[in-house]
Amino acid sequence: MVGSGTLALLAAVYFSLASNAAFWAAFRATEAGQSAAAWALGLGMAVAITALHAGLLLFVVNRWTRNVVLPIVLFVTAAAAFYMDRYHVYIDRDMVANVLVTEPKEARELITADLVLALLLHGLLPSLLVWWTRAPVRGVGKGIAMHAVGIVVTFVIALGAIGLNYQALSSLMRNEKSMRHLIAPGNWMVALGKALRERRATDAPRQLIATDARIERPAGARPRLVVVVVGETVNAAHWGLNGYARQTTPRLAALDGVNYPDVEACGTNTEVSLPCMFSSQGLHDYDRDAIRGSESLMHLLDHLGVHTLWRDNQTGCKGACEGLPFESFLDAQVPAYCTGGRCFDGVLLHELDAAVARMPGDAVVVLHMLGNHGPSYYARYPEAFKRFTPACEVDELGDCERDAIVNAYDNAILYTDSVVADAVGWLEQQSAARDTALIYLSDHGESLGESGLYLHGVPRMVAPDEQLKVPMWLWLSPALREADGIDLACVRGAADAPRTHDALFSTVLGLMRVETAVRDPDFDLLAGCRRD
Ligand SMILES: [Zn+2]
Repeated sequence: MVGSGTLALLAAVYFSLASNAAFWAAFRATEAGQSAAAWALGLGMAVAITALHAGLLLFVVNRWTRNVVLPIVLFVTAAAAFYMDRYHVYIDRDMVANVLVTEPKEARELITADLVLALLLHGLLPSLLVWWTRAPVRGVGKGIAMHAVGIVVTFVIALGAIGLNYQALSSLMRNEKSMRHLIAPGNWMVALGKALRERRATDAPRQLIATDARIERPAGARPRLVVVVVGETVNAAHWGLNGYARQTTPRLAALDGVNYPDVEACGTNTEVSLPCMFSSQGLHDYDRDAIRGSESLMHLLDHLGVHTLWRDNQTGCKGACEGLPFESFLDAQVPAYCTGGRCFDGVLLHELDAAVARMPGDAVVVLHMLGNHGPSYYARYPEAFKRFTPACEVDELGDCERDAIVNAYDNAILYTDSVVADAVGWLEQQSAARDTALIYLSDHGESLGESGLYLHGVPRMVAPDEQLKVPMWLWLSPALREADGIDLACVRGAADAPRTHDALFSTVLGLMRVETAVRDPDFDLLAGCRRD
């Protein structure tokens, strides 16, 4: 016979011991974790974390719920701890929001033998113990009273442990804010609550932006067609045009484009970066709620009579194209590009002629790639692009040498290079009828084992350059350059300056010759290089 309160306490102790390796490792790496007082501080945190989790569990674990709630918490925490340990990911609101929109196909790639083992060991095994125990029979009133006392006692203990270490703890949490996202299971519970609350809040209508906007081009000017290629998970350091030791961008290097070697992403995951890139606020005026509550670049273009189309080989436009024409290739069955339920990014150009023919006049098309979405980099490119070998060809990065992981990652960039070059080729054909341009930029980077980090999603404040620096590349058709009097040498001359994702919003408006106070010339890649 084990009472539910005892069970909640045991579970909290278990989490502190078994599920928080990433947190303790992060603590040991801090200055406080290496100081003489580290043991006292560590012990204080262990007591506080255990007590807080116990108190939290006492709210939801009782005689009727224990056989369901505790196993759910155990399984989810086992998965969270696995990813925190293995890939050094942080479990915050964005990470959980990402998980909530994960497609079954993505999920399948994440379920590896090691994860299953972790779930059996840290999810199933303790759950079996929970199911094996029996709750003592008590009166309901007595049970509630005991839980209430338990909650009060655990919170008093937690407060005491925090109070005794208050100074050291507050300075640690101030300096290492992101560490709290490593405390399981509290991290995913809080993040889940926030992510769900945010989902509900996004139903309100979006604020209009740039109500002063108008298109200013001479009467009789040719219509424009701009393609925005949003890359996925491409890290600037592996981009051939940026001077990477390997030429991963041979086809773009042969084109007459402009490469931007120093570009910082808005965030380190798609959920943050994508809405931010297409917003007027951007990184310079970042406000997550304002961005989600406002119309995007695509909405603004739509109001101006520009046709928009968002073609997606990923998990959608995260609100940036809400209510606007959208095509998903997630379940497309185009034999030339699609195998095993996934399509290579070349599919984004499939029958684009016909789609664009239905959009006469000015048009902006976004191609949202699957790019280098990990960990299955090897599944992102056709066989012909397997140039760097041996390439890691399993979903479990831990089963591959780092070199093989990098090889697969670089092969995937080679394929992105080819798709973007094909898009330019396609635009060259379209240039007979319209002035055309293309801009490519990745949503965020990726860690590939540098200091033990893999994948992406580390909070911006502590994110390494591998996750924050992204490639960006611009191509302008000769006809568009001619029409706007753009001096390409001038554009190239300004390419080495530091840039951010904010370039997208103002540059696309500039390319469409949209005049508005919201377009910031500082962010327009062509500002100062036009004949006016
Ligand atoms: Zn992404």
